[in-house]
Amino acid sequence: MTEHITHWIAGKEHGGTATRTADVYDPATGRVTAHVALADAADVAEGVEAAAEAAKAWRATSLTRRTQVLFAFRQLLSERTEELAAIITAEHGKVLDDAVGEITRGLEVVEFACGIPHLLKGGFSEGVSTGVDVYSIRQPLGVVAIISPFNFPAMVPMWFFPIAIATGNAVILKPSEKDPSAAVWIARLWEEAGLPPGVFNVIHGDKVAVDALLEHPTVASVSFVGSTPVARYVYETGTRNGKRVQALGGAKNHMVVLPDADLDLAADAAVSAGFGAAGERCMAIATVVAVEPIADDLVARIAERMQGLRVGDGRRGCDMGPLITREHRDRVASYVDAGVDDGAALVVDGREPGEIDADGEGFWLGPTLFDRVRPDMSIYTDEIFGPVLGVVRASSYDEALSLVNDNPYGNGTAIFTNDGGAARRFQYDVQVGMVGINVPIPVPMAYYSFGGWKSSLFGDTHAHGMDGVHFFTRGKVVTSRWPEPSHGGINLGFPRHD
Ligand code: NAD
Repeated sequence: MTEHITHWIAGKEHGGTATRTADVYDPATGRVTAHVALADAADVAEGVEAAAEAAKAWRATSLTRRTQVLFAFRQLLSERTEELAAIITAEHGKVLDDAVGEITRGLEVVEFACGIPHLLKGGFSEGVSTGVDVYSIRQPLGVVAIISPFNFPAMVPMWFFPIAIATGNAVILKPSEKDPSAAVWIARLWEEAGLPPGVFNVIHGDKVAVDALLEHPTVASVSFVGSTPVARYVYETGTRNGKRVQALGGAKNHMVVLPDADLDLAADAAVSAGFGAAGERCMAIATVVAVEPIADDLVARIAERMQGLRVGDGRRGCDMGPLITREHRDRVASYVDAGVDDGAALVVDGREPGEIDADGEGFWLGPTLFDRVRPDMSIYTDEIFGPVLGVVRASSYDEALSLVNDNPYGNGTAIFTNDGGAARRFQYDVQVGMVGINVPIPVPMAYYSFGGWKSSLFGDTHAHGMDGVHFFTRGKVVTSRWPEPSHGGINLGFPRHD
């Protein structure tokens, strides 16, 4: 018997009216483990209506009470991290330790949101005019939608919903249909934490559900994370419909290694950031730019480390799990074929991964390394989103920098060097939103904001941190006077303060 995964609306499981479903796989075995409901516009409308109703009371709930619910959620989540990690591994495939890691990073945003009474404080100017005070407040938007990708089924939604809820909004989460169970588990946890029904809803689905959210007039904002073409579409459609939209897209992250770098540190970092989560991370390193004369040495060190990686079922203590679907596995493998055809040097071939520690017919592709990649090859230009690392050789810092800056994506980048001046110059010059200096995956802490530049983000607000507080609230400024017996009478001139 396979499980049937339903929506979660107004604090209850909700089967929906639509009859379409999608298969959910265990990528390590290749077996279908569940079917997930795919919402139509009527299901989305029902969810939005429930959220709108709940938003009224939630907004009026005191900051003290809202904060207590957030603290309770934080406590439950930290106690039950392993339970959620097992769900993530079973549907996504990433190894258990990595699943725990993504929850831990999501928890940081919950902890940030626990400080919401402080974060929401406005400004107050006493006596701007005789007897007149001015103050600013921030108020929730109402119903906010979050549309998330498959690769972080817990962390990416958690970049947004703790802050959305803390600031008094009601949420509709539309998770990826490929690994939908984490979202429903989280919804139940919110209920246990004391969040009123309807403040956090989960609607499963595909493009049909996304379009219904983008068109529904009550949805005030959309926080999207996924591939660049869909991010661009969501941004354009959502803003055309008058919504506030932040849409985070794809990536092709470069790691520049200067000749003076610690090559063991750089090789460790390239392997960890290239093959962690089988390369299915928006902050994965896809391209190593080796500034000569170190390329031969660096490639040898990376290849040597790759021999020790154990590929297999994420529940068995392996280093790297499978890819998300068979189609995606085949697509990634086809890039390896294309790289060979285009003349790149295949140093390690993941199409023949050797021993895999798993049962069944999982979606396997081993770690793959190309050297002598050129910028005109598809393995360089396209986001592959798999365990394929390419080394481009550059003759100078300037050439390496141009590669990074000419790339249409600008999510993350890293430089490896022992020269502080070169690192400082790189952080100044580089056209990328998140920069690591001897740190390969520079994911900002929750109290900073996460976001890329160029085709990696549409909109002007990054995720979490103060950007998150601003995104989920609207500013209001109040000018107030409590009249004394004489208040000046009628004056049709534009208000001036004196
Ligand atoms: P995706 O774009 O296929 O799907 C993302 C979401 O959009 C899912 O909820 C999906 O159901 C929905 N969707 C898919 N196609 C759609 C369409 N045509 N119209 C409307 N909605 C649609 O992305 P994915 O494969 O789930 O995730 C991987 C991608 O996400 C990669 O490109 C990765 O770089 C990116 N990503 C980016 C970040 C970031 O912070 N920039 C973080 C994580 C993932």
